[in-house]
Amino acid sequence: MSGQTRVSILGATGSVGESALSVIASGGPDAPEFQVVALTANTNVEALAAAAIATRAEVAVIADESRYGVLKSLLAGTGIEAAAGQEAVSASASRPADVVVAGIVGIAGLPPTLQAVRQGARVALANKESMVCAGPLLRAEATRSGAIFLPIDSEHNAIFQVLDRPARVEKLILTSSGGPFRSASLAEMAAVTPERAVAHPNFAMGAKISIDSATMMNKGLELIEAAYLFDTPVERIEVLIHPQQIIHSLVAYDDGSVLAQLGLPDMRTPISYALAWPDRMPLPGMERLDLAKIGRLDFAPPDTDRFPALRLARTAVSAGGGGPIVLNGANEIAVAAFLQRRIGFLTIAQVAGEVLDEFLGGASAACVPASFDDVYETDRWARRRTIEKLRLAA
Ligand code: NDP
Repeated sequence: MSGQTRVSILGATGSVGESALSVIASGGPDAPEFQVVALTANTNVEALAAAAIATRAEVAVIADESRYGVLKSLLAGTGIEAAAGQEAVSASASRPADVVVAGIVGIAGLPPTLQAVRQGARVALANKESMVCAGPLLRAEATRSGAIFLPIDSEHNAIFQVLDRPARVEKLILTSSGGPFRSASLAEMAAVTPERAVAHPNFAMGAKISIDSATMMNKGLELIEAAYLFDTPVERIEVLIHPQQIIHSLVAYDDGSVLAQLGLPDMRTPISYALAWPDRMPLPGMERLDLAKIGRLDFAPPDTDRFPALRLARTAVSAGGGGPIVLNGANEIAVAAFLQRRIGFLTIAQVAGEVLDEFLGGASAACVPASFDDVYETDRWARRRTIEKLRLAA
């Protein structure tokens, strides 16, 4: 690879953002040369400033405007620009870059991801919620601008790596660890605490995706993400429980071949793939996969009675309108309420299902969102109804 790769990281202080920074820092003579353009965070101003100084970023942006003064003083004398506010986060995604890592969590990531798409960058997409809520609109924007989506969600990255003949695909198979409650009874799940639910067996991730993994809403959101990203009907996407998380996903072709991508569960691999694409880059210090040591790989079908989120995701995307936006918005509110100990674990999927049912039974269910404003309006409705149903005080 020749020349510098200009890269921005949205959500640089999160789990994905930190992994992206570590890939960039891994260096080595065969690695691409990276120039960091913009780094953004929500409130963690110290980590943001430290990362900006370490990478000599052009600009550091904090979404929380009350932290602007601290950011400015931490960056004083470095020559790094400081900015604050949600608009500034989105504006930073418009700065010319070859790759923009979309690593913000939740629908909050949609406006800056859209700006990255509009500038025609390669979008290294972790922020699945933006694809879930606005997949068809984002893809249409990408067609106009020439932007390319490079998924870094490990399952979609795996599919992207082995999807060489899209016209011959019979089905996509998304693997799932099953989360920390794979074998738990409903009674056990009813009693779990946020601390137990965030403890994922194979990955250390942000709090929201950890809870989503425990309810399997994460796999539901991934199902919708895959349907939009790979333009594949949801009936042709399966979910397979695979506790070891060595096979990251599979593509079945119509000649009987099934292609899979394997690796240890470590986000640096899919992130490096997206950063170096269409090449690959070496990750010298990383542990290598030793299948003889692992010995066995297990598989099982998912249990949608204990994990209804998977069923809800299929229903939401099959309906063809704003269902995925509603499911996502209701889930974001419910997960936050669970983390604040205001609702129980099983209530997350239950309330998301109730709000989705209400939406799908109403007049606007069949309307396909025609604009990003439609997306935000549907999202606001879902959040409001979830708050009302859960009787959460503001
Ligand atoms: P984290 O919670 O660890 O990090 C989220 C990042 O987004 C932080 O930098 C945070 O800033 C920033 N942020 C949060 N809210 C806002 C906001 N309102 N405006 C601007 N910035 C905001 O999440 P993860 O890294 O775990 O996940 C990020 C995304 O990647 C999610 O969509 C997740 O589903 C997806 N993903 C994550 C994987 C993982 O291994 N973690 C794997 C695959 C996908 P601050 O630190 O200041 O709060």
